[in-house]
Amino acid sequence: MNALEQYVCTECGYNMAGYLPDNCPFSEASKDKFITSQEFTTPHSRGR
Ligand SMILES: [Zn+2]
Repeated sequence: MNALEQYVCTECGYNMAGYLPDNCPFSEASKDKFITSQEFTTPHSRGR
């Protein structure tokens, strides 16, 4: 079981689950402006 990858547009904050568009439907940002939710929620405490 793997959870759906979520993509967040860094331009407008639009969030997509399981699908990375070529361009954001709202801000028309290219897909390299999208980050995954894993990158979005970068853990601050690593190690300790
Ligand atoms: Zn956008």
